[in-house]
Amino acid sequence: MKAEGKKRVIIIGASYGGLHAAKEFNKKDDFEVLVFDKKNFHYLQTEAYDFIANKSNISDITIDIGTYINKLSSNIKFVKEKVLEFDASQQKIKTASNEYFYDYLIIATGARTNFPSFIKGLRENSNGVKTLFRALGFKQKFESTIYEYITDNAFSHQRDYNIIIGGAGLSGVEIAAEMAYIIQTDFKRLGIRCLGFNITLVDAAETILPGMDRRIIYATIKRLKALGVHIKTKSFIKEVYPNELILNDGEKLPFDFMIFTGGIKAEPIASQKEYKLNKFNQYIVDDLYNIENEKNIFAIGDVAYITADDTIIPPTAQSAEQSGTIVAKNIIKMAHNQEPIKKAPIIRGMFIALGGKYAVGTIYDKIVFKGYFAYLIKKFITNFYKVFLKP
Ligand SMILES: Cc1cc2nc3c(=O)[nH]c(=O)nc-3n(C[C@H](O)[C@H](O)[C@H](O)COP(=O)(O)OP(=O)(O)OC[C@H]3O[C@@H](n4cnc5c(N)ncnc54)[C@H](O)[C@@H]3O)c2cc1C
Repeated sequence: MKAEGKKRVIIIGASYGGLHAAKEFNKKDDFEVLVFDKKNFHYLQTEAYDFIANKSNISDITIDIGTYINKLSSNIKFVKEKVLEFDASQQKIKTASNEYFYDYLIIATGARTNFPSFIKGLRENSNGVKTLFRALGFKQKFESTIYEYITDNAFSHQRDYNIIIGGAGLSGVEIAAEMAYIIQTDFKRLGIRCLGFNITLVDAAETILPGMDRRIIYATIKRLKALGVHIKTKSFIKEVYPNELILNDGEKLPFDFMIFTGGIKAEPIASQKEYKLNKFNQYIVDDLYNIENEKNIFAIGDVAYITADDTIIPPTAQSAEQSGTIVAKNIIKMAHNQEPIKKAPIIRGMFIALGGKYAVGTIYDKIVFKGYFAYLIKKFITNFYKVFLKP
């Protein structure tokens, strides 16, 4: 039952985007807000590299959604249910056991790893890191590969051990660097010469970190090389088998395990009507984040294809957070008969963790930071986010 005299906002997805939207309704008692998520925790994907490298544990990279929502005012509630579909004509959503009516709907369901079906065997034979379950599996596999190496290989080189990361974007690069750093420092501590333990980044693009500032790319390549990471760009993965992949030019790369971070596929919600999506399944939204022809339904974060002045805003945590805040503020305005404000997310900077206490990044695409200071900024950003989650 909807509370009388209140506007009901339903938010689907309680992560970077959804939680930022929810927080805007704190103490706004003329709204009743229901935040849905199929999980009871918010997975901090942006810190996956630390988790995989054993520098943090599950409690460091998860936030209990119910606990967070309970700290907000009582007009905001968490519902742990998977939303199966929505019906715009009746203004309702459906879960397996219930239906809920809304005045405004915010879809913040994010994305998962895209395993393109034209790459034969990719999905079956590689891992992603966009869910905690996958990241955990990857962490365990990484550790057991190190264990095997130490027991069978370290003192007399029997064979090479190979880890392949398909996709040299932000997440692939961070994971490669952190793994390489762990191997270098751990093996040094054990007094082992790191013979034949290879980490290889493979990407079809001309360069790693496609689309990023040249200075960042250059500094990252330098750091990856210093860590012993092999970089193979302009290399299109054609087929993947349990322990080997084949590139378009026929070259074969053996691996002990492979992760794929080559792109995302959004998770839109099934609906009575069909809405415009791009090839990554993202809702094509207008400059108020409305999905096609629906003035009270919004998509934010990774599930939305957001552009500003014909430039694509990359799907990042910061664009999810900002789009969540903007949409929630606009809903409050619209409910009070005020004009909503058109505003695109502003990418303030991007910092890439590159193993140990080292990072590179830029602020507003102007100043480039490298090394320990950049690492401190990166840590400040993530810790600041955790403070945000403690109302
Ligand atoms: C390894 C890695 C490193 C990254 N590093 C950075 C970085 O340094 N900086 C940066 O800005 N970005 C980074 N990103 C990208 C960033 O994590 C994403 O852009 C961000 O998670 C998007 O947030 P979101 O709220 O849109 O969606 P998500 O975080 O994907 O959350 C979606 C939520 O919706 C829920 N959900 C989905 N479907 C349903 C349903 N049907 N019913 C109910 N609930 C549902 C899910 O359970 C989930 O909680 C990184 C990503 C990865 C994988």
